[in-house]
Amino acid sequence: MKILLDSGSGGRASQRLIADVFLRHFDNGILRRMDDAAVLDLQGPVAMSTDGYTVTPLFFPGGSIGTLAVHGTVNDVSMMGARPRYLSCAFILEEGLDSDVLERVVADMARAAEKAGVAIVTGDTKVVPKGACDALFITTAGVGEVIADPAPSGSSARPGDAVLVSGAMGDHGLTVMARRDNLTFAADVASDSAPLNQMVERLIAEVGDIHVLRDPTRGGLATTLNEIAGQSGVGIVVEESAVPVHESVRAGCDVLGLDPLYLANEGKLICILPREKAEAALSVMKSCEFGAEAAVIGEVTASERPRVELRTFMGGSRLLSMLEGAQLPRIC
Ligand code: MG
Repeated sequence: MKILLDSGSGGRASQRLIADVFLRHFDNGILRRMDDAAVLDLQGPVAMSTDGYTVTPLFFPGGSIGTLAVHGTVNDVSMMGARPRYLSCAFILEEGLDSDVLERVVADMARAAEKAGVAIVTGDTKVVPKGACDALFITTAGVGEVIADPAPSGSSARPGDAVLVSGAMGDHGLTVMARRDNLTFAADVASDSAPLNQMVERLIAEVGDIHVLRDPTRGGLATTLNEIAGQSGVGIVVEESAVPVHESVRAGCDVLGLDPLYLANEGKLICILPREKAEAALSVMKSCEFGAEAAVIGEVTASERPRVELRTFMGGSRLLSMLEGAQLPRIC
């Protein structure tokens, strides 16, 4: 079956699509009320984030636009030291889209939301004429209760802090790039699309005093560390040999002339906290489902100007700048 303009008209065809696809997969008490807005029960300060998802291809090893639309927003809310609770989702569908494709995406979203423990409680669907968008775009927003006090922030890195990552860098970026170009050498890479809220919750409860949490998505580790250095007014020194990168990603980057430190991740976080807490944070991360390859990769230094310095494999040192322009559009 094909999605028709009628499916987004608000009339009978829309009702059918909502009942057959969205309600069936996302089913929960709040959504089922079918009122104009969801009414939420939240305590204390609330973190909110929104993101648009336009990735192509829609499906790739390790995930899909549906998993990204849930994980991306769950993770951004989590990075504020918050417990994500509710998501909204809005779909822009291209006329003529196969309804099986939509259903697969929605099923991926439902599974991802269940795994992350969040409910999709409100949504919207629009269908645009063929050619007005590419197949399917999704926007999600998420809210969650802030459970860290003080809440982590990109401006809270302090000289002497340790810098950790929760796993290997570049898997998502290389996977999408390889899929798009049909590169066979990268057959065994897969996106790291994953929810990080359980890891964040454990870091807050079992370690505490987390200065910065941020997920290195577009622009990768190098760009995200530059953002943090700028916000906090500090230097950050990274040991290249300490940054985990899967062998297949490194090999793919060599072929394509890319640097894994600039590739997008969709299930990894950077954690910056006092040095004396680094070992405790590392062992919590390693015991989490998506943190087995966590590592301490560097430290925060006092610096007159914000800078990120890489101590290279060769024993030298070079500045890591922010990503210039878009390495790859529609990566997430
Ligand atoms: Mg983020």
